[in-house]
Amino acid sequence: MSSINPVGSNLIVVKAGGAEGVNFAAICEDIAHLTSLKQPMILVHGGSSEANRLGEALGYPPRFITSPSGYTSRYTDKRTLEIFIMAVKGKINPLLVAELQKRGVNALGMSGIDGRILMARRKKAIRSVVNGKRKVIRDDYSGKIESVNYALLKSLISQGYLPVLAPLAIGFEGEALNVDADRAAAMVAGAMGADALVLLTSAPGLMSAYPDESTLIDLLPREDLDKAKTYAQGRMKKKVLGAQEALQAGTSRVIIADGRVQNPIQRALAGEGTHIS
Ligand code: ADP
Repeated sequence: MSSINPVGSNLIVVKAGGAEGVNFAAICEDIAHLTSLKQPMILVHGGSSEANRLGEALGYPPRFITSPSGYTSRYTDKRTLEIFIMAVKGKINPLLVAELQKRGVNALGMSGIDGRILMARRKKAIRSVVNGKRKVIRDDYSGKIESVNYALLKSLISQGYLPVLAPLAIGFEGEALNVDADRAAAMVAGAMGADALVLLTSAPGLMSAYPDESTLIDLLPREDLDKAKTYAQGRMKKKVLGAQEALQAGTSRVIIADGRVQNPIQRALAGEGTHIS
């Protein structure tokens, strides 16, 4: 893991979820407002539902694997990796960059492959549970991020660019890899020593008894994150894990907040959602 870069101390890393309902236009509008106030930012995005749709359209629907500890991830064989790249770097990333450019933000789209922004270790043998049976998967192209080229990100930001990152990484053998976008955002926030990581999703925050919104957690001390993993289901588990990784790596605070509303980032910074520190 790269060491902490103190220059990032006023940086905000935003992760825009890839699920239905997350309002990309509202997120870009909010980024434009904040950057006009000289707030340095990095945007990381997902693409799960777009990759699923594209896979269906190409006759290669997505498959998911569950680890013995209950984390679900995309089964990324070579063809799925190509589809994932088409979805996140072929479509979502340039459309987000255009939305930001339209609003006067000098956004620069790239994935973690470019300039080795994200280096990851490929998971060569993944233990998983498929239909209740334990299995080892060996043709998967996903990885766990081990280093972040924070010097490059820092230099782009200091030149006035807003980096927009698609969740892909380069492996140690030069292979393209799919990485989890929440954890990618967490590693970037940690490596940059960001002030805040804002995970915008299709829920108002973390609920202790999902889907009962009256159980929304406002403040979560980092000591309670292990317990919080047991509340989270499905992909929310990865966000809680990401929050933990970002705090461990040097981010001051993590906010899990609603990405479906207007001004989602300003609202999160003002106290909405689940604040973890
Ligand atoms: P992304 O925003 O990265 O695309 P998802 O939308 O797939 O992620 O994951 C977030 C979803 O997780 C929420 O919309 C919600 O439906 C679900 N979820 C599961 N458990 C919880 C929980 N305890 N609190 C809040 N949401 C939860």
